[in-house]
Amino acid sequence: LARDISKKRREFLYFAGGVVRDYLLKRLYKKRIPKPKDLDLVLQGNLKSFLKELLEKVKGQILFESQFLTYKVKINLNGKEFLIDFITARKEIYEDIAKLPKVFASHFEDDILRRDFTINALIIGLSPPYEGVLIDLVEGEEDLKKGLIKPLYLNSFVDDPTRIFRGIRYKIRFGFNFSEDFFLALKKCFEKSALKKLSGTRLANELKLYLTKEPEKNLKNLLMTTYELNLFEEAELKINKKNFNSLISLLKELKGEISEREKEKIFLFGLVDSRFLESLYRLGFPDSEIKELIKYKKLIEENLSNWEKLSLWEKIKIFEKIPSIYLLTLGIYFPKIKKDLIKFFKEYRKVKPELTGEELIKLGVKEGKEIGALLELIRKEKIEGKIKNEEDEKNLVIQF
Ligand code: ATP
Repeated sequence: LARDISKKRREFLYFAGGVVRDYLLKRLYKKRIPKPKDLDLVLQGNLKSFLKELLEKVKGQILFESQFLTYKVKINLNGKEFLIDFITARKEIYEDIAKLPKVFASHFEDDILRRDFTINALIIGLSPPYEGVLIDLVEGEEDLKKGLIKPLYLNSFVDDPTRIFRGIRYKIRFGFNFSEDFFLALKKCFEKSALKKLSGTRLANELKLYLTKEPEKNLKNLLMTTYELNLFEEAELKINKKNFNSLISLLKELKGEISEREKEKIFLFGLVDSRFLESLYRLGFPDSEIKELIKYKKLIEENLSNWEKLSLWEKIKIFEKIPSIYLLTLGIYFPKIKKDLIKFFKEYRKVKPELTGEELIKLGVKEGKEIGALLELIRKEKIEGKIKNEEDEKNLVIQF
């Protein structure tokens, strides 16, 4: 339907980006490539009026319109829901190093040449004059065959250093190599200190994509490649390579226990070197959160030399003082407490008495402070394995 409308309007519509790359990859390598999560459809023309016409003919709505002439559209067709990114063919002009570009509606050739890598700069036409034609202005198909990540021009990473992180993701995801031009562009980027100029939010977002967009098994390689290219240092982010394993195994352990948002935060907290937590300012975290993390880190440090000698209950009382995101981060910084902490998180913190306060009163306990103390005692004895069921709890109350 979109194709028919574009034909009628005499506007050129085409697929671009990941959807074309993955289609060709599948054909070239007969590899199983995950289905593209988002479909990028580009129009050389007036997209707003095009979408109005489309949405008169099909059920759906525009969910989001960006400052970059793009629209996220939900289409309902035959009882199914599709999310499609509609993009205006555009030219980008970068006026400042590492700042967002100015964008202008333009010709499809400009739209190809604004892209990050040759393998992402292939398009397939859906309407005349290039209906059904693969257009490759930058030898992208050749680079797909060679397995090369190659930027389109040498100033590419000066304009937008987030492309370096995108390149790492493609390298690891597809098992490709960086081209010579990739390293030349990287050199230029370092010379111009472009990574230092990249905003904290954009830097944090790119790192989060390692976690959210890529298979879990690739995380170590993604982080190591970033480290080996010296990107953390160049971006003025003090990280600790020794945290990588601990971070990855902790996130694995916590599957299903924490939300995606919490996971992302722990990931960024856990990357940084615990001796330089101020480094988290670089990732755009607010003062209050960084100060909290520093405070709780001190609390653990005070008990660290004595950790093995503490009883299980004493450890739990320390853990209970610390909100879970900070606590889990501290498990990454201090491997000594990690085992206890995971057990606390998955098990002990969920242990609750069967008896309620009201039931305690019925059993003859006086209202007031005593109730709280008794419930706490029941919890302690349960965690220590001294009592098991409601009957044991009642006996404990009677003894008390
Ligand atoms: P993925 O499989 O990771 O989703 P994708 O190629 O679909 O890959 P998107 O982030 O959806 O990735 O971007 C769509 C296309 O837009 C890319 O293929 C690329 O051509 C272009 N693009 C995205 N980000 C940039 C950027 N920072 N600079 C230049 N081009 C970009």
